[in-house]
Amino acid sequence: LADRDGKIWMDGEMVDWRNAKIHVLTHTLHYGCGAFEGVRAYKTAKGTAIFRLQEHTERLFNSAKILRMQLPFSKEEVNEAQKAVVRANKLDSCYLRPLAWIGSEKLGVSPKGNQIHLMVAAWAWGAYLGEEGLKRGIRVKTSSYTRHHVNITMTQAKAVSNYTNSILANMEAVDDGYDEALLLDSSGFVSEGAGENVFVIKGGVVYTPDLSAGALNGITRNTVFHICKDLGIEIVQKRITRDEVYIADEAFFTGTAAEVTPIRELDRVPIGAGSRGPVTEKIQSAFFDIVNGRNPQYAHWLTAV
Ligand code: PMP
Repeated sequence: LADRDGKIWMDGEMVDWRNAKIHVLTHTLHYGCGAFEGVRAYKTAKGTAIFRLQEHTERLFNSAKILRMQLPFSKEEVNEAQKAVVRANKLDSCYLRPLAWIGSEKLGVSPKGNQIHLMVAAWAWGAYLGEEGLKRGIRVKTSSYTRHHVNITMTQAKAVSNYTNSILANMEAVDDGYDEALLLDSSGFVSEGAGENVFVIKGGVVYTPDLSAGALNGITRNTVFHICKDLGIEIVQKRITRDEVYIADEAFFTGTAAEVTPIRELDRVPIGAGSRGPVTEKIQSAFFDIVNGRNPQYAHWLTAV
């Protein structure tokens, strides 16, 4: 990913992709205090547009606030940076990665006095869990790793350090022949995927864990709330047990990268018919209509670059 043509926005300037480098004594590299976002832009009939840009920028600033990092840019500047990166790389559908980190002035645990930096990169990135996964559903394994407790790491921050747990869970699941991991919280209730929020459907009602289970407050999760309301589907946030997933009619993951990906199996137990379910398909299709600019009701969620 490092050796390619293109531009990356770094601290207010467009830098050649290959020159977008930092020093090995960067504080965040050593102690993991950093905040990032995952954002997508879609090719719409009116041109390339970033989906829910404002909400992603708000979450980045909230993550930074939780981590006590003062970003040296305004939200407007960060919005403009994201639009500029898509344009500079002549991308249409793509993934954007803003990341804030602490600089290399000194390396004590206390970051006080170090500069806060921000970069935004963007590149083409297809279906995170595969095109096939979007249609047929993916196979998921309950992780042996527990999702962060809400007072051990800050689970509402999209913090760099939170992702070691996600990496371990994902690697374990993939090494065991699955597509993705499902993590339980420290009380054993369903929390989320390694990089996705989780939903189950039972008797026509959609359920998702409430945020006390330590899941990230996903923007796609919120989009699904709107979709369900529009489709007249009841949606409930509650504690969910692992066996409730086994006996659900349908299940799916959501995320900016994962979009709406059906789950067809958990721990080798087929969920419902063991394929993408009809309610999931409806929600998924409504989601793709919105992000691709085919639903005028949500035109305000699409920012032209
Ligand atoms: N949980 C985790 C741990 C994630 O990394 C992500 C991806 N950002 C999500 C949930 C989904 O969030 P969103 O829909 O905002 O991308």
